[in-house]
Amino acid sequence: MRRRRDRYAGFLYPARPAQSLAKRGDADLDRRRWIAKKVARAALAFGAWGTGAVALRARLGAGARVRALTYHRFGDLPRDPWCVPQRDFDAQMRSLARAGRLVSLDDVLAFAAGRRALAPDAVLVTIDDGYRSVLDVALPVLREHGVPAVFFVSAGCIGSGVGPDAPEPFLAWDELARVRDAGVEIGSHAFDHVSLGRLSLGDARAQAERSRALLAERLGAPPRAFAYPFGTRADFNEATERMLTEVGYEVVFNALHGAIRPGAAAGSLPRVKVEAGESLRMFELSCRGAMDGWRVVDELLWRMQQVRAETRAPS
Ligand SMILES: [Zn+2]
Repeated sequence: MRRRRDRYAGFLYPARPAQSLAKRGDADLDRRRWIAKKVARAALAFGAWGTGAVALRARLGAGARVRALTYHRFGDLPRDPWCVPQRDFDAQMRSLARAGRLVSLDDVLAFAAGRRALAPDAVLVTIDDGYRSVLDVALPVLREHGVPAVFFVSAGCIGSGVGPDAPEPFLAWDELARVRDAGVEIGSHAFDHVSLGRLSLGDARAQAERSRALLAERLGAPPRAFAYPFGTRADFNEATERMLTEVGYEVVFNALHGAIRPGAAAGSLPRVKVEAGESLRMFELSCRGAMDGWRVVDELLWRMQQVRAETRAPS
């Protein structure tokens, strides 16, 4: 049962560091899944645009929302949804920079607190996990366009090299410091890349505290931001939200799709995942809310998991 869930989730959500779609050996199944998912996402995005939902949102609430985008890795791995080619990333950042829609974490916090107005459909760039391609491929693009990004790393993975199934090496500590020195804010993505919602609260707290302490020790300052690994409804809850505040995190992101609005709780902010293999038009629609409905898929998966857990025979 657990294996089924992981396989299913791996298709829809970023793979665990020790997992790679490209290495699973079933290329044909991967190709069919890839196409099916791209069709589903495009149908949702262009459907939202075609029915006027995007335009309606723009008319009703211009300027009243911002979205945090989530990236993971960068490069040219075919049919890897979490590895965005540099030329696509460059086109995305160029387009947002030209429109003056790139904002910082400070901007988002002030906006959520109702203290700052931002450009309509402003965007915060966040990157998860701690992989090497962030330095080699993404950083030159971030610098060129002056993108104020946040990089969430699993502290225990930094400096660990590359595992047998990891898609690429993790950064070393001195490399992470170079990313920080280039102006990227470093946040915590737990100590290990594990689901806090599936741990005891004590173990979840240890993940939050150990990562915070190690990042403070190696980078000279404790992180103020946290992003849940995986970040689906199964991976956090009210208890983990309270715990992260107690540990000292000022702002916490999950991976549920949606916009951030004034009044949003900084302890549980949604994001929008960016996938590889999609057009600039599709990206632009996502930034304007066309993929916010993907949250329904998140919810559906979560409910399916709940039903499975309830029907599982006690062991
Ligand atoms: Zn992650």
